[in-house]
Amino acid sequence: MKDQIRAVAKEHGFDLCHFTRPQIADRFIAYLDQWLASGFHADMDWMGESERVGRRKNPQAMLDGVKSVICVGMRYTPPAYTLEQAECAADRGVISAYAHGNDYHEVMKKRLKALARDLDTLLGPHQQRIYVDTAPVLEHALAESAGIGWQGKHSLTLNRELGSHFLLGELFTTADFEPDEPADFHCGSCTACMDICPTRAIVAPFTVDANLCISYLSIEFKGFIARDLRPLMGNRIYGCDDCQMICPWNRHATTPDPDLLTPRRENILPELASLLQLDEVGFRTRFAKSPVKRTGRAALQRNICIAMGNSGDASFVPLLMDALKHDAALVRGHAAWALSRLTTVAGHAAVLSALDTAMAAETDERALEEMNLTIQNIRIKP
Ligand code: SF4
Ligand code: SF4
Repeated sequence: MKDQIRAVAKEHGFDLCHFTRPQIADRFIAYLDQWLASGFHADMDWMGESERVGRRKNPQAMLDGVKSVICVGMRYTPPAYTLEQAECAADRGVISAYAHGNDYHEVMKKRLKALARDLDTLLGPHQQRIYVDTAPVLEHALAESAGIGWQGKHSLTLNRELGSHFLLGELFTTADFEPDEPADFHCGSCTACMDICPTRAIVAPFTVDANLCISYLSIEFKGFIARDLRPLMGNRIYGCDDCQMICPWNRHATTPDPDLLTPRRENILPELASLLQLDEVGFRTRFAKSPVKRTGRAALQRNICIAMGNSGDASFVPLLMDALKHDAALVRGHAAWALSRLTTVAGHAAVLSALDTAMAAETDERALEEMNLTIQNIRIKP
């Protein structure tokens, strides 16, 4: 029956399909407690809510009578560029590879629902529930015990054949399956992901401090990004793949055919200038069905201002001056910061004048603070 289910899962686009018990290994529970106690979940307060933590630690609370968890993995196309190529494309932004196409939550949910329907036919009466990312499920812990792969030091799941460019989903069922063998650990003494991380967010093996992680900062966090972290973000405007791209297990990662997320060419290293000029309607159209849309236009354009500020390209100055009039204070503030990084001596007068005008109309304290700092910085520049 397990082989039959694996074959059906494959038909629905899941390259990986393994079985485990609804139990979390003690090691993962200890990591979760330590991670939360250290405040590494940043402002994702919901992650620390006791009811959710309880369910994470005890998957049996997710479905009455659950006996097995079927863990599935769906591959996506790895980045088509190297870390160096991404870094050198300073007038372009890096969007994380999993977000080059359609929103995987939607794609995977649809596929898992179809798999669940087939299981109803195959297994007869049973209860089941599907989960993709957002539920309180320790998916990497379950994936490891199911044998999908081991948790790498960057905290993601790695498979010996496929590397880490795949996404996880779970199907909880009251049907009873013999569990598969757990995956062995194959990171060895490697620390490449920890060493490459631009913000040193992997504070210890398997422990990512979200407060520092560019994936969290650029996608989940909606506020003003700490000024000392902005230069470290480079041109990453949605997520960050560095720790995966450097991983030796991804050296031979291949492209799935077909890629069910259908990556779009325009999301691969897109030009910063056109993205900063999108209005709300333009943003919604440009990122229709994309996970980028969930983050919202203001947060994305905040990240674009940061990338422009890090580009060293003074040709962005006029666009950033325009962004001082943006409808979101978040963007106005980060545009001011970017201007302080790019303003050339020749451009001082025009930028100072634009900042004066912007400050006269500004009502947001944080944006005002950024504008003030930029004026001070420009004035002390030689
Ligand atoms: S996603 Fe980027 S910032 Fe986050 S841990 Fe990996 S390399 Fe570091
Ligand atoms: S880069 Fe090295 S340490 Fe990090 S996940 Fe890959 S193998 Fe493990």
